[in-house]
Amino acid sequence: MQLIWFRQDLRIQDHAALWHAAQAGPCIALVVISPEQWALHNDAAVKIDFYLRQLQVLKTQLKNLNIQLVIRHIPFWKDVPQVVLQLTEQLKVNCIHANIELGVNELKRDAQIQKLLDKYNKSLELYHDRTLFPVGSIRNKSQQPYQVFSAFKKNCYERFSVSLPQCYPQIEAQPDLQLDSIDQGAVCTFAELYPNHPAIELQDCWPVSAEYALTLLDDFINNKVIHYEEERDFPHLDSTSQLSPYLNSGMISIRQCIQALFRRQHGHFHIEHSGQQTWLDELLWREFYQHILFDFPQVSKHLPFKADTQKIHWRDQAEDLAAWQQGQTGIPIIDAGMRQLLATGWMHNRVRMITAMFLTKNLLIDWRLGEQWFMQHLIDGDLAANNGGWQWCASTGTDSVPYFRIFNPISQSQKFDANGDYIRQWVPELAHLDAKTIHEPYAKNSNLALNYPKPIADLKETRVRAIEAFKSI
Ligand SMILES: Cc1cc2nc3c(=O)[nH]c(=O)nc-3n(C[C@H](O)[C@H](O)[C@H](O)COP(=O)(O)OP(=O)(O)OC[C@H]3O[C@@H](n4cnc5c(N)ncnc54)[C@H](O)[C@@H]3O)c2cc1C
Repeated sequence: MQLIWFRQDLRIQDHAALWHAAQAGPCIALVVISPEQWALHNDAAVKIDFYLRQLQVLKTQLKNLNIQLVIRHIPFWKDVPQVVLQLTEQLKVNCIHANIELGVNELKRDAQIQKLLDKYNKSLELYHDRTLFPVGSIRNKSQQPYQVFSAFKKNCYERFSVSLPQCYPQIEAQPDLQLDSIDQGAVCTFAELYPNHPAIELQDCWPVSAEYALTLLDDFINNKVIHYEEERDFPHLDSTSQLSPYLNSGMISIRQCIQALFRRQHGHFHIEHSGQQTWLDELLWREFYQHILFDFPQVSKHLPFKADTQKIHWRDQAEDLAAWQQGQTGIPIIDAGMRQLLATGWMHNRVRMITAMFLTKNLLIDWRLGEQWFMQHLIDGDLAANNGGWQWCASTGTDSVPYFRIFNPISQSQKFDANGDYIRQWVPELAHLDAKTIHEPYAKNSNLALNYPKPIADLKETRVRAIEAFKSI
């Protein structure tokens, strides 16, 4: 009997571990629910709700394949090895199949399970599934991991020209196994798991069904990717794929994205237009940060990639931090982004950069506090991408923005939200202002009567302060 353990990969198509398990024999599936561990990882409520909804879908999909799903509630991962061992004994399972998870706690958990299973002549088979290329396999001429994105990307392109990563075949329905002997456990809803938490009401924003993520991908490839290069930086346009929650929870695979991107080229690596190339490069940024997380695990231990930036004297300013978190900084584009995050669990990439740069440079507040806030609120919160994005903006990361190149949020706003449409959507108290005034309402008239805060930072002075702070280390 094979046990297939689903983690951040709740789908039945193109699933490395599921495919391997099904080749080896009849399967039973396992999902572990660990609310306390998720809290330690700062997982957002909206992300957990999304996950539990998808779990319900997965259960039905597995049932159609005659694969029974066992759910175990194990608050902390330190207790997972014993419970999993016990389950393998009850089910007479000799081999567990799972896809590798790259965080340090995840790797530690799996190493402990492996050690325990060894003693009982059982095995844990781990597969590369979350990335296009196995972590640890992309190396420079000196066999070292890449630290610069462009070189990493070049290596990936070379591999693509040999062949594009292929999807695993669809698996067949399995022999029907009855599991009367054990308690299968039930899939719970978010409200059942967190009875005291306010209800999550974003189900319509982020639907979950067997087909939804693939439909979203198809729509993006058929209608939007062609304009992606010119339009992706404008937050009021619906021009990016919005696939990040689905990719991060594993409802869709990265190979499915690549295959869809090159569908018109019959699966051959041949770039036809700049939109296609730009989207591919974004997928490779995702890939790059996953590989960085694996090769430089210090980044997931709250440490900067550039060790000397540990010496920066960040400001301890709870009030400024709170204003940033709640979208009350008095800088409209920042507040629009932070309010979009609170309202939808998602923020446009350009605005993620602007808000992160403002926190770490203009407010000179520790990037780790911003990283944590994003993680606590993002539906697509992903350790590797979030850490990579924050360290890029804070100039503490690998291949990050030079510390002296500081975005001016007002110029960014004027450039990427020229008519102020995005600001109007998320900061309704400014909706009546014209396209010029809306970016900086008090610039011409500091007595303008608005129910909106004055800017909490002078952008010129704080820019100089940030550069000095970096120069001094
Ligand atoms: C400070 C900061 C924090 C971020 N935190 C996260 C996070 O927690 N989770 C997350 O998935 N992305 C994160 N990103 C990257 C990026 O903002 C989102 O992936 C993107 O906005 C998701 O929207 P989309 O699916 O429409 O992307 P698209 O533009 O359609 O891109 C397609 C996919 O490529 C990947 N991708 C795109 N840009 C990046 C990038 N810069 N870095 C890594 N992967 C990328 C994502 O998987 C995305 O779904 C962060 C960026 C910054 C600057």
